[in-house]
Amino acid sequence: MIPRPLFGSLFLVLLLTWPRQAPSLVFKHAHIMATQLSITSRDPHANMPILGLGTWRSDKGKVKDAVVEALRLGYIHVDAAQVYENQCEVGEGLHEARAKGYIKEMNDVWITSKLWNTDHHPDAVRPACDRILRELKLPKIQQLLIHWPTAFQKVKGEENLWPKDAQGRHLSDPNGDNKAVWKEMEKLVDAGLVETIGLSNFNEQEVQEILDVARIKPVCVQIECHPYLPQDEMRAFLHSQGIALCAYSPLANLDPNDASKPCALRDPVIERLARKHGKSPAQVILRWHAQKKNVVIPKSVTLSRIAENAGIYDFELSEEDMALIAGMGKTHRVRLVNPGFRPGGQPVFSQ
Ligand code: NAP
Repeated sequence: MIPRPLFGSLFLVLLLTWPRQAPSLVFKHAHIMATQLSITSRDPHANMPILGLGTWRSDKGKVKDAVVEALRLGYIHVDAAQVYENQCEVGEGLHEARAKGYIKEMNDVWITSKLWNTDHHPDAVRPACDRILRELKLPKIQQLLIHWPTAFQKVKGEENLWPKDAQGRHLSDPNGDNKAVWKEMEKLVDAGLVETIGLSNFNEQEVQEILDVARIKPVCVQIECHPYLPQDEMRAFLHSQGIALCAYSPLANLDPNDASKPCALRDPVIERLARKHGKSPAQVILRWHAQKKNVVIPKSVTLSRIAENAGIYDFELSEEDMALIAGMGKTHRVRLVNPGFRPGGQPVFSQ
């Protein structure tokens, strides 16, 4: 009898060394059963890989190695953004991974980037996309998202990503027009610079406003989602529209060094399920995401954790386990990311 943790490790080694399936084959089978998911499975709504590597707050000097390691392990999805200010190094990682043969073609990797608030103006969209492609050293990417539903004023000739007013609040632009920005995003698809476009941090009403005018529909909405913020209603809405939900901050671990802050990894429910399945707390949470049909983009610059976060396809949470995790969101609802980007420094989300 092989002990469960050892069995899990053996499975992970097998999974990561197994020859990769052709994307079309993976997509064909992606929706069948949770147990058949793998590191290269794709979300049936957006055709985007269900597991990606997050890169927010991934320090320069570390993020390149993280990207290379992720692609070596079989990840085929990297989540980036201009405002993370590390995109050049993400690009270096992508190119190094290809040079080392971890990916055959750059097109085999799903790369998401995001249009920052200072570029939420129709005439700024194309130059911003060009800059993102320059930073990544790529002729095109798979996905560009409008990062927030809020625009900042752009001071001509200035590259400041965080303009502030006299009171030190974010310099919001009352004339920001998401629909006009969306029309320019569609032109990026027409021009072959991005394969798909989507939204991030938009609420249901704001997504609907885009759907009402869209010639090219958003394929994905990236929002905060974890056991303390399960987003069940938003997921139902998005899936009813054929849109993927991509879960950011999936581990609810924004302040890892502050034990007083909420952290799903330390929750007793998650710890109990981790013991039950012989998996780590992160693996239980990421498996929960997979079974909720979320695309998920855990960030790590720790090479062992990048492997650990992919080791979620050899076990299944029971209905009872899923109900226990659902209970966490009911008793302890937490939103971790809610910046004051609305006019007057108001938070983006009302709750
Ligand atoms: P996260 O992925 O939930 O958590 C990242 C933190 O958890 C890091 O401190 C990481 O540490 C640690 N960690 C990772 N794997 C672990 C494991 N197996 N065990 C223990 N700790 C682990 O949070 P996030 O970075 O906020 O979100 C993920 C990604 O979503 C971001 O990187 C970004 O790409 C995207 N995002 C998008 C938005 C948006 O507005 N669209 C907002 C936030 C995030 P180490 O790195 O030190 O290993």
